[in-house]
Amino acid sequence: MPSGLAETSENNQKPQPGRPFALDPLFRRVTALDGIGPRNAGLLQKLCDGDRVFDLLSHLPIAVIDRRHAPSIKDAADGAIVTLTLTVEKHSLAARRNMPSRVRCRDETGAIDLVFFHARKDWLVKILPPGATIVASGKIEYFQGQPQMVHPDAIGTAEEWRDIARVEPVYPLTQGISNKLVCKAVTAALGNLPSLPEWLDEAHKKRGRWPSWDDAIRAVHNPAGADALLPAHPARQRLAYDEFLAGQLAIAMVRYHQQKRQGRAYQTGGAMRKALLDSLPFALTGAQQRSIAEIDMDMQAPMRMLRLLQGDVGAGKTVIAALAMLNAVENGAQATLMAPTEILARQHADNLKPLFEACGVSCVVLTGRDKGKGREALMTQIADGTAQIVIGTHALFQDTIAFADLGMAVIDEQHRFGVHQRLMLAAKGKGVDVLVMTATPIPRTLTLTAYGDMDVSRLDEKPPGRKPIDTRLISNEHIEPMIDGLQRQIASGARIYWVCPLVEESELMDVAAATERYEILQARFGDRVGLVHGRMKPEDKDRVMAQFSAGDIDILVATTVIEVGVDVPAATIMIIEHAERFGLSQLHQLRGRVGRGGTQSYCFLVYGKNLTATARQRLKVMRETEDGFRIAEKDLELRGAGEILGTRQSGMPGFKLATLPAHSDLLAAARDDARLIIQKDPHLNTSRGAALRVLLYLFERDQAIKFLQSG
Ligand code: ADP
Ligand code: MG
Repeated sequence: MPSGLAETSENNQKPQPGRPFALDPLFRRVTALDGIGPRNAGLLQKLCDGDRVFDLLSHLPIAVIDRRHAPSIKDAADGAIVTLTLTVEKHSLAARRNMPSRVRCRDETGAIDLVFFHARKDWLVKILPPGATIVASGKIEYFQGQPQMVHPDAIGTAEEWRDIARVEPVYPLTQGISNKLVCKAVTAALGNLPSLPEWLDEAHKKRGRWPSWDDAIRAVHNPAGADALLPAHPARQRLAYDEFLAGQLAIAMVRYHQQKRQGRAYQTGGAMRKALLDSLPFALTGAQQRSIAEIDMDMQAPMRMLRLLQGDVGAGKTVIAALAMLNAVENGAQATLMAPTEILARQHADNLKPLFEACGVSCVVLTGRDKGKGREALMTQIADGTAQIVIGTHALFQDTIAFADLGMAVIDEQHRFGVHQRLMLAAKGKGVDVLVMTATPIPRTLTLTAYGDMDVSRLDEKPPGRKPIDTRLISNEHIEPMIDGLQRQIASGARIYWVCPLVEESELMDVAAATERYEILQARFGDRVGLVHGRMKPEDKDRVMAQFSAGDIDILVATTVIEVGVDVPAATIMIIEHAERFGLSQLHQLRGRVGRGGTQSYCFLVYGKNLTATARQRLKVMRETEDGFRIAEKDLELRGAGEILGTRQSGMPGFKLATLPAHSDLLAAARDDARLIIQKDPHLNTSRGAALRVLLYLFERDQAIKFLQSG
């Protein structure tokens, strides 16, 4: 048993069946490490997003303290981090409580004071005995022309110094945890690091001069200098690649198993298609034509379609969904469209029903609101096939609704991601072609991770005739004149969304802020103001929304609930309070609620004091462009990938070892690698395959592991 580890059953989590023993040390709880008690373990868990040794090892340093610079006192520049070899001369202890103690030291070039606040005298004398030769490392500061070092961060005898890291990693920390503690835990973990079978392609590994997995782990935690922190460092590259490869391999595997199942081969482009296109008052845009052509190809093929249709709000996804559904209906099958909320399902139905009726196709809506006899009647129509198209909420599909012959499903995700739900759905259907629609433009690189299991069509061109939204940045202090302006706009018929900021993570606080704003506006505009928030009953929400939609109220004050859905083409003004607190994608989604008709629309981004540089940049981007894909790329640049994908909410694994966009090229390579692997060795039976199994277990890609276990 290596030192640094106490083996107790409590320290082992129940392993995933089949997990290779080699991984055990990585899956132990951090409490198994020397010097890590339950309290520290709790903090580490929070810090590392997990309490296993591998979580700790995946927590990478963000900086280094480089102690290699060892000049003489004379050559030590102001502000530099230096390591000095000194002789201790004399102590002058603090005269008063708030005065520092000073320890005068020298070398052959000059003198320096080591300065300590609140230090105990006996401790100082013990570590710095007069006459002794010591080594001290820290930052040089000049004070009244004299060099000094306040609280050196390492002091030792020349002998002890041999054990002090010349380059010390600096980890991201959280309240209550010191860098020293993290270093100590990591060192203990490294003491029992297993070496794992190599899962990388040898040639690929050589090309990048990548180290083995365990060497890479050691290297990232013992950075030789600041260079070792860069995403381009071979050890970082390797670990990032491993993380991507695990994810892409899992996706490729799931995809392989899904496609193995027979799909249906549909004829496309029949009379119904023609009737629908003829009934439209417009011609399809180029992007729409491309997308439907891609969908047609998928649906004609005997394999199952798994395609993502990406396009901003207003990009024209609805008609594409309708055309895709008609493909199934035209071949005698049923199709369904599922929306994330009741409101959205009804809205889709309002838009789609007329389209389908124009080509003689029957379409029903079924949501949680349909109860009793009415529901039974609908279910009968779905079960006997008289309902050719069924529109409903996501819950609908999970229910025990029986279709006569479901052949195609459209899932409108808006901007909720759920790889898991999607996989479940696909497992449920029998050769059902699936089209997922999302209104969140995602950078290409992220599409691979969020939707790597799907093919992608992009609606990157808006229908013609839209006026650009006039977007203005307004300081909080100028909110009054803006409100005066609204008065005039309302008089000429404008309808206004007023979105209140996210206060911390608390919905209750959001509600309070929105309510306060509502009351202020109500005092001014009377009963022409309405309020919706997440804490209201769905019926009440719907009622207020309906009033806004009908024009019975002019200003709708809302928390971000309006983000998901609602279509009020007559609304032309969007006001977002404390816009700096929203992410770019969120701002983009919100702004997309206006500018849908032919009239000039406005978006006011109201910002508070003390904007950070990033916030300023975000708001600037909003003013510069309306292109969702460009905004998404910018968003990725300005913040982490995990945030964009909302990893925590959706249960989507984020990245710990990889950084996007810095490692994007590795992600694409990992995807290609994974596809090739699965093509050649779908069950991972070769010797590389065996090593890849270890990789999947390491990153807990359960979805893929399930397939391995079932063979
Ligand atoms: P999305 O679902 O992507 O948010 P919609 O499908 O609701 O967008 O389309 C928004 C509006 O644009 C609708 O009123 C729709 O009729 C209209 N539209 C769609 N495609 C075109 C087009 N090619 N030319 C003109 N208008 C279009
Ligand atoms: Mg729509």
